[in-house]
Amino acid sequence: MTKIEQSEDFLTKDKDYIWHSMKPYSPDATMIAEKAEGSWITDHNGERFLDAMSGLWCVNVGYGRTELAEAAYEQLKEMAYFPLTQSHTPAIKLGEKLNEMLGEEYVIFFSNSGSEANETAFKLARQYHQQKGEHGRYKFISRYRAYHGNSMGSLAATGQAQRKYKYEPLAPGFIHVAPPDSYRSEDNADCKPLDLQSVKDIDRVMTWELSETIAGVIMEPIITGGGVLIPPDGYMAGVKEICEKHGALLIVDEVICGFGRTGKPFGFMNYGVKPDIITMAKGITSAYLPLSATAVKKEIYEAFKGSEEYDYFRHVNTFGGNPAACALALKNLEIMENEGLYNRSAELGDHLKQSLSASLREHPLVGDVRGKGLLVGIELVKDKATKEPLDANLVNKVIVGCKQKGLIIGKNGATVAGYNNVLTLAPPLNIKEEELDFVIKTLTDEIDAI
Ligand code: PMP
Repeated sequence: MTKIEQSEDFLTKDKDYIWHSMKPYSPDATMIAEKAEGSWITDHNGERFLDAMSGLWCVNVGYGRTELAEAAYEQLKEMAYFPLTQSHTPAIKLGEKLNEMLGEEYVIFFSNSGSEANETAFKLARQYHQQKGEHGRYKFISRYRAYHGNSMGSLAATGQAQRKYKYEPLAPGFIHVAPPDSYRSEDNADCKPLDLQSVKDIDRVMTWELSETIAGVIMEPIITGGGVLIPPDGYMAGVKEICEKHGALLIVDEVICGFGRTGKPFGFMNYGVKPDIITMAKGITSAYLPLSATAVKKEIYEAFKGSEEYDYFRHVNTFGGNPAACALALKNLEIMENEGLYNRSAELGDHLKQSLSASLREHPLVGDVRGKGLLVGIELVKDKATKEPLDANLVNKVIVGCKQKGLIIGKNGATVAGYNNVLTLAPPLNIKEEELDFVIKTLTDEIDAI
């Protein structure tokens, strides 16, 4: 079989057999990946692409790390599986490590995906309030534009209507408020946390809904899939204070922001706040194997102690905390520490943001360049004064143009329901500086060429 026959074969078979998660950016943009190394993917035709999105914001230590493959292989040989209804050594070691990273105050519940970690958090939070005798607390507040997962609860928490309306009714009890957004919202970033409009909104909603019905708030430190929305510095502290006032828990979704993406081990560490519950996935294994975790403050865990058998946290999953995934995650965290990837993300991220700002600030279609660490968004608009989002075909032109030059970037935002006008970058944290220069140059050229 010649190479061409082979590639046609793959394309046909892909259409026949694979139901893709989301439609591709354009019909000719589908890519069939075959190999990957560092920040680069090679497709089935042998063409190379720099993956400036780390897959779906997750391959934080880059592709092709044989140490990770070996850690999993060694563990699979030693003991492939045991459920966490009992326990096993790799899960305990990883639990200890995560707890150390989080400041020695958390216990860890393992599962398999970000959606599941959030689902676990919702169930835990509701039951926690019940354990304390507060039976009416079932509602969660989350923000429009945020994504929290695909399951009936995590999708209910998601604030992107276009992802939801075909599947309703979803889990009841989720209420949305406007997100903080340094570019579009009315927040005055200089005011005190409790004076921020977006914080006051949460306070008012909790009061109107009745405090005693509120279980918690779920938020990402920086809304990622909703367009890299950087909150005012005091926002998270303000939300935490409001949660305490109303007796609600603060759940922080670190599925993307965790593990160095924003220049710190966890995104909340940028804002000096201790969440009650922290959910994580993706970067925990740099996506080499599926694993997620829900870290829960010890006092929440304590509230479940001494309960009758039927009062235990009745939530179980078969694969969560799989030994090979835990062993791999530990190695992954060791790599991040040994290679200084948290600081590297902060430093390279500043460089990336500043370079893009310098080259694009004056561009009439670039409304904003923003980010923290190696998480950057470039908001494209028709008009800088009105901030009206740029037409989809022009946004896509940039994506396809970059792809033709060997660069994969993302497109997010949900600025208007169903519409994404924010180009996103989230490259591996160990991307080389010259590779980052290629990202900056290619993206700038393609935006110039719109
Ligand atoms: N939370 C956030 C912030 C996410 O971005 C995602 C996935 N992109 C999820 C939760 C859900 O994770 P998963 O796809 O692993 O279920």
